[in-house]
Amino acid sequence: MVLGAGVVGITTAWALAESGWRVSLLDARGVGQGTSLRNGGQLSYRYVAPLADAGVPAKALRWLLDPDGPLRWRPQADPVQWSWLGRFLALCNGADNRATASRLARLGQFSRQCLHELMDRHAVSHFAWEQAGKLVLYRSSASQRRAAASIDGSQQEWSREQCMAQEPALAQLGPRIAGGIYSEDEAVADCHAFCVSLMDRLQGHPNFQGLVLDTVLALRSDGPRVSVQGRAQAYGADAVVLAAGIASRALALPLGVKLPLYPLKGYSLDAPIEAQHTAPRASITDFERKVLYARIGSRLRVAAMVDLVGQNEAIDQGRLQSLLRVAQTDMPQAGDYAHAQPWAGLRPATPSGAPIIGPSGVPGLWLNLGQGALGFTLATGSAQLLAAQMNGQDTPAMLQGLSFSLEAV
Ligand SMILES: Cc1cc2nc3c(=O)[nH]c(=O)nc-3n(C[C@H](O)[C@H](O)[C@H](O)COP(=O)(O)OP(=O)(O)OC[C@H]3O[C@@H](n4cnc5c(N)ncnc54)[C@H](O)[C@@H]3O)c2cc1C
Repeated sequence: MVLGAGVVGITTAWALAESGWRVSLLDARGVGQGTSLRNGGQLSYRYVAPLADAGVPAKALRWLLDPDGPLRWRPQADPVQWSWLGRFLALCNGADNRATASRLARLGQFSRQCLHELMDRHAVSHFAWEQAGKLVLYRSSASQRRAAASIDGSQQEWSREQCMAQEPALAQLGPRIAGGIYSEDEAVADCHAFCVSLMDRLQGHPNFQGLVLDTVLALRSDGPRVSVQGRAQAYGADAVVLAAGIASRALALPLGVKLPLYPLKGYSLDAPIEAQHTAPRASITDFERKVLYARIGSRLRVAAMVDLVGQNEAIDQGRLQSLLRVAQTDMPQAGDYAHAQPWAGLRPATPSGAPIIGPSGVPGLWLNLGQGALGFTLATGSAQLLAAQMNGQDTPAMLQGLSFSLEAV
């Protein structure tokens, strides 16, 4: 039984069903209604570097002083927040950042391959997937130079003029940037539509036993198995996979499993694109402001912000107005902001930015969680890796030598 029907849970259920397990999926809200609902839509295989990096604590202080800045921190009398922050700060150095980024890059490449297999072999479609390319904009020549030092042959460094010529959507923002790096092989898609499409395939799978709508109240260790106490009834299974996003931490704790997860709250706007709008062709990331703009089908998705404000999905009107202000100033013609749907979601984040995939230490309980800012990008590969472990198989060749265990996070 897989707990959580977000992008991580659904891909896990699929990978297990494909490998011979009889699987059921349980969620309190239905398919893809949590953080997978309206995220940034980036399948960001190149840009996987975690948030914890050298220089981030100093930048964070500047961001906190900017009312429209990308970061908010509300200190709380919550030991989870403080211990997460302590570990995060310890990891803010170049060596740890590079080590985690290289692990995530390999999981990302594997996930890309797994996603393409779902699309090509299993006809998972209609989720607005497009290899739109990604343009990362830099406001200072120094940061552009630093980024350009590590590009490969398939990426291009563009001047301000080139960026503006390629992307008419940059008419307003263009004069304020130094230039950009364009990667043509990056993709975007609608994460929720992907969940729905894969769920559709799953419903027809001979090993799939159904989606149960129920809320997990507690997990209990019962010898070699874990039983699930739902609001409606209790469930038993040979194996339980915890993939409940940020809620996983509270569910695992009574079993003695301490998950280093903290919710990093982010916001998005989903605006219609009409004939008169100049939406970007590629997905665009404003590197300094940490705002991204992506055309997903006929809509513009604007996503931003990392708020450490506890486990609360409510939309803060001040933050929403801030995001609207930035989008209307920088990309006024990209979409119809007057009719944009606002959304907030909680990234289930570990301090290092690496997910936790593997056994929990409690017999019968497995973990697939903590994909943080990259859950859509990493879901398909994370799911295959967990299925290989649950089947006692070798680690997939592309991930040989890597560990995403609870101890390695
Ligand atoms: C603003 C923003 C932008 C983002 N942009 C990107 C992006 O561009 N690219 C990318 O790769 N990632 C992005 N992410 C991250 C990505 O959205 C997440 O990593 C991913 O959605 C996490 O998926 P999940 O399945 O782990 O969690 P969720 O989607 O939250 O799923 C967890 C599920 O568990 C269920 N659940 C929880 N508790 C219980 C319970 N007690 N009983 C039953 N069910 C329960 C919930 O209902 C939910 O459906 C972004 C996130 C945010 C907030």
